[in-house]
Amino acid sequence: MELFELSASEIVEGIKAKKFKAQEVVESCLARVKGVDGKVKAFLRVFEEAVLNQARQVDGKVAQKKPLGKLAGVPIAIKDLITIQGTETTCGSKILKNFISPYDATVIQKLKAEDAVFIGKTNMDEFAMGSSTENSSFFPTRNPWDLERVPGGSSGGSAAAVSAGMAPLALGSDTGGSIRQPAALCGVVGLKPTYGLVSRYGLVAFASSLDQIGPFSRDVRDNALLLSVIAGYDPADSTSVQVQSKDYVKGLDGNLKNLRMGVPKEYFIEGLDKEVGRKIEEAISVFKSLNVTIREVSLPHTRYAVSTYYIIAPSEASANLARYDGIRYGLSTRGDGTGLLDVYEKTRGQGFGSEVKRRIMLGTYALSSGYYDAYYGKAQRVRTLIKQDFDQAFKEVDIILSPTSPTAAFKLGEKVSNPMQMYLSDIFTIPCNLAGIAGISIPCGQTASGLPVGLQLLARPFEEETLLKAAAAFEKEHPWPPMAVPS
Ligand code: GLN
Repeated sequence: MELFELSASEIVEGIKAKKFKAQEVVESCLARVKGVDGKVKAFLRVFEEAVLNQARQVDGKVAQKKPLGKLAGVPIAIKDLITIQGTETTCGSKILKNFISPYDATVIQKLKAEDAVFIGKTNMDEFAMGSSTENSSFFPTRNPWDLERVPGGSSGGSAAAVSAGMAPLALGSDTGGSIRQPAALCGVVGLKPTYGLVSRYGLVAFASSLDQIGPFSRDVRDNALLLSVIAGYDPADSTSVQVQSKDYVKGLDGNLKNLRMGVPKEYFIEGLDKEVGRKIEEAISVFKSLNVTIREVSLPHTRYAVSTYYIIAPSEASANLARYDGIRYGLSTRGDGTGLLDVYEKTRGQGFGSEVKRRIMLGTYALSSGYYDAYYGKAQRVRTLIKQDFDQAFKEVDIILSPTSPTAAFKLGEKVSNPMQMYLSDIFTIPCNLAGIAGISIPCGQTASGLPVGLQLLARPFEEETLLKAAAAFEKEHPWPPMAVPS
């Protein structure tokens, strides 16, 4: 076994027990990046020198018998919309090329405090808008299980990096499925925390009422470990919620007796791939064998979720992205005109890609006077109905189970010319963001051609512990292949 294959928990233990050094772990992951990332292209930037220095500092602490953090020496990959002080943050967009972050995001401060080391920034759909990572301004990322296919998105780089063994952990963000869907397509664990559990300070905003940062890992234990580090109240984020910090690893053991799960009847829709459907049925049998009671639940407003999301998310995005004006951040195209408007137009015209422009136009239209009530106001009311569906269902069950994505990984180029097709990739993940609840995707098998299939579990707000416990029990009963071998 090589060091890059170890889980984060094993790395921390091994470093503490002096079985190996943090520097050796980092060297092994860097060698893996060199070996496979030419094909996968998960990283926008690799911090070769800096990460080795950080690892040496951890080794120094070991030598001096100083206390070590919970993630001592663990290499972590960061989606390129979370700021690390003094380094570039591009959000996968040309408009932010060369923009250097003046401060650390709260999650980065927390990771530093626990001695994690930062291996690099990962590729993503521009401003997190997309489901395939093909909307990156720089290059597409490929699925490590099949290089002709997409890794999902928008956190495709983070999912691919973890899946191919380039880092045991990564951070992503999820506005409508951007952690869970790529986790499903790449065969890793991805968790979207309850809105307000993880600070958004230093996360570049896409749709502020939906965005959450969350962990990627290859096993459930590591996911719980990383969540324990990043969760918690932060006065710098006004939507952060004051909840008791938890050690999510402690809650992993134990049986699932008395746990009630619901399967929404609306989720077994026409567009659901047959093989994916079969794997979900198998997963349901696994939970039954673990003494979980399974029953049907109804989420009748689910059918409006995608339409609702595509009013709310673009509306918030159009406001959030107004700040990229060619004056304050990154790219500035002055052209031959002299006026301020000219700078705005040229910079935004050249700096944003077509999907981002489409969202800004949708959002600006939906918010314009005379249309606000008909679109944004109405969407907000439907959002409440979607939330109430969940409240109702969670009176009867503790967890809602569904596929994460209607299909396994699709081919590069397959959906780029049809945005509606692409939007439908998130049909099962979007309701969770609209309702602000907790969700996780775990691997539950592979299709006949070897592509991973993801199982989504949803829980009441702040019940990540229940999700992780159910996921851990499933993993034990139904282990999944540890990592992809890109070829
Ligand atoms: N795919 C969805 C979108 O394009 C969700 C993206 C996300 O969660 N950031 O908006």
